[in-house]
Amino acid sequence: MIYTGGTIGMEKDYATGSLKAFDFAGIAAKIPEMDSLECQVSLEQFPEPLDSSDVGPDHWRQLARIIADNYDEYSGFVILHGTDTMAYTASALSFMLKGLRKPVILTGSQLPIGDLRTDAKENLLTGLYYASYYENDEAVIQEVALYFEYKLLRGNRSMKASAEYFDAFKSPNYPHLGQSGVHLDVDRPVLYRAPQEESFGIDLHLSDEVFLLRIFPGMKLNYLVSFAWGSGIKVLILQVYGTGTIFSDADTENILQSVRKLGVEIVVISQCTSGEISFGKYSNSNIFNRIGAISGKDLTVESALAKCMHLIGNPNYPGSFRESFAQNLRGEMS
Ligand code: ASP
Repeated sequence: MIYTGGTIGMEKDYATGSLKAFDFAGIAAKIPEMDSLECQVSLEQFPEPLDSSDVGPDHWRQLARIIADNYDEYSGFVILHGTDTMAYTASALSFMLKGLRKPVILTGSQLPIGDLRTDAKENLLTGLYYASYYENDEAVIQEVALYFEYKLLRGNRSMKASAEYFDAFKSPNYPHLGQSGVHLDVDRPVLYRAPQEESFGIDLHLSDEVFLLRIFPGMKLNYLVSFAWGSGIKVLILQVYGTGTIFSDADTENILQSVRKLGVEIVVISQCTSGEISFGKYSNSNIFNRIGAISGKDLTVESALAKCMHLIGNPNYPGSFRESFAQNLRGEMS
């Protein structure tokens, strides 16, 4: 179990009234039930527990390294993480861990573990169950997943949908991998399996030459050209309407065309949480065919970003960015 921070390990600082992280080494005292588990759990902690809004690529690398260093010794991994960016971390790790044959389960909670009404105990204990769920010496889950409020989701399909309810995460474009009720259910046909020939390894390459922009009615797109010119970005993720529509005026096309001429790839994803991009469905999306944009299909925002960071300039992918992006690498895209 790797503790990174988040609400799960926080308690109230009575001086300020805000939640702040406590030393998680005392976790066993807060969840005595852990002693009754059939698996043995060791704890590794980040030196400083983090609010997940401070978690980024360097921490993703740190997590991938911890998993790689301990891969042979453990049957599975649970990452305790703040909920705010948990879906980003889950998406990034799914690309960084190649040929995974063991479960990597991220979880956290909406209320601190010491709170009377906490959701932390259930999430943590069932997360550990899923991480140690084996049959015939084989892990049942062999991918990066996120467990929260009775549901097991594919990490790179998940998104945080509520800052209020215990049922905080959704996987709008992919079925749940499992459900915990009286039994620990798993929907086997929807589980990811790495290709046979792929052996386990980590890929720490993460580029920061990506930018995400959400369009809105009345937007002045012309800021984009000077931005793209000076910033050195390689990929612009454009979050557009519905199935891929944007303003139909000539300026929009000229501006996006000039961005493309600067060598910037444009990946198009939707502002809707479910459904997928389909260029040409409406005439207001034909522009993307004309400028040679890339369809982000049904990717979540988190997964689109992580996939771009993973692929931009990555020497492990010999093809072009466009070719690699079009592939379904870890079950992230339909
Ligand atoms: N701000 C917290 C975090 O993401 C929220 C949480 O854990 O639920 O670290």
